[in-house]
Amino acid sequence: MSADPIPLAQALMRCPSVTPAEAGALDVCETALAALGFAVRRHKFGAVDNLYARRGQARPNFCFAGHLDVVPPGEGWASDPFSPEIRDGKLYGRGAADMKTAIAAMIAGTENFLASKGNFEGSISFLLTCDEEGAAVDGTKRVLETLAAEGETLDHCLVGEPTSEERVGDTIKNGRRGSLNVAITMEGKQGHVAYPQRAINPVTALIETAAALKARKLDDGALGFGPSNLEITSIDAGNIAHNVIAARASLKLNIRFNTNHSGDSLFAWIKETAETASARVGARASFVIPSQSVCFFTPPGEFTALVSEAVRESFGFAPELATTGGTSDARFIRNYCPVVELGLRNETAHMVDEHCAVEDVRTLARCYEAVLRRYFAA
Ligand SMILES: [Zn+2]
Repeated sequence: MSADPIPLAQALMRCPSVTPAEAGALDVCETALAALGFAVRRHKFGAVDNLYARRGQARPNFCFAGHLDVVPPGEGWASDPFSPEIRDGKLYGRGAADMKTAIAAMIAGTENFLASKGNFEGSISFLLTCDEEGAAVDGTKRVLETLAAEGETLDHCLVGEPTSEERVGDTIKNGRRGSLNVAITMEGKQGHVAYPQRAINPVTALIETAAALKARKLDDGALGFGPSNLEITSIDAGNIAHNVIAARASLKLNIRFNTNHSGDSLFAWIKETAETASARVGARASFVIPSQSVCFFTPPGEFTALVSEAVRESFGFAPELATTGGTSDARFIRNYCPVVELGLRNETAHMVDEHCAVEDVRTLARCYEAVLRRYFAA
C-alpha cells in the first residue's frame, strides 16, 4: 500500500507556523523523515529554525527543498485556517497551496520510492525552512552556507513552490526574474507656490526622474525571459496644502528584470538619473533599497527534461518551462546546484480560503516519486 500525503499535509497545516515560527511543523517532518532512515539535523539561526536531512552518503545527492512557514491567515475564512478541512474533494487551510502540501507530497513520494526501490546509488536530502515568506535571511541561505562550509554537496534540487497555473503540472519554473525595490527621497526647499523662485520643488525633480526612467526600454527579453519592466509605485509629497511647495517628496519603484541586468547595474542607472534631475532644480536625492533579489536561470537540459518527463508520466501532459512570477528560495540554491520548482496551483496562495484539490496532492506525490525513480535509474 502506498503512502498517502494527505494525513501528513493535514498534520503540517495544523501547525500555525506564521513566519518565522515553526510551531511544530519541523518536528512533524523530523519525525516522518527519521522514520524513513534520514539523518536529521536542525539549524537554528536567530528566531528561525530550519531542517536538513539526508539519507545515504553517496553522490549524487538529490535535494527536495521548501518552506513550512506561511503568511498570516487574514480574516474571513469559511473554516479555521489552521484546522485543515476537506470539503468537496478540496483541502482548505493556510499552507494548502503554498506549500505544506508539497512537502507532504515530497515525503510521501520518497517513502514510496524507498519502498519500491530498496537500495539505490546516491542520496536523497530535504532542506526545509521557516523563513521564506519573511526576510529570507536566516533560512535557506544560511543553511546552505553552513552545509557548504561542512563540505556537504547538493547535486540537483527541486523546490515545491506552487508553480502551476491552470492545472497541476502545467508549469515548471526553471528561473525567476530578479526584483529590485528602490525608494528615492528628494530634498528641496519649502516655499509659497506664488514665489517658486524662492523654493526648490522636489516633486519637479521626481517627475523628471520618473519620466526618464520610464522612457528607457530596458531590453527585448532574454533566453527564457520576457522583457524587464519598471513600475513607479508611488510619488508622494505628503502635502495637504495647495499653496505650499513641499520640502521633501519620495518616489518608490520596482523593477522585475531578466539576465540582461543585475540589481547593481540597475540601481546605478536609477541613481544617476535621479541625481541628474535633482541637480537641474537644486534638490538633493537620497536612496534606499528596501529589498532586492537576484535573477536566476537553469538552462533547459538533462535535468529539466527529467522533471518534465516525470510530469508527463504522472499528469499525462508535458509541462511548460517558465520564469514568471515572484521570487523564491531557489535564488539561493542556484548558487550551489541546478534547481527547478514544481508544485501545485498558485491560484489561492496567500488568499483567504486557500485550498488545493486532494487528488492533486496525491498525483504530485507520484510525480515526485517518478522524479526520484528517473534520477536514480542506474
Ligand atoms: Zn511559497
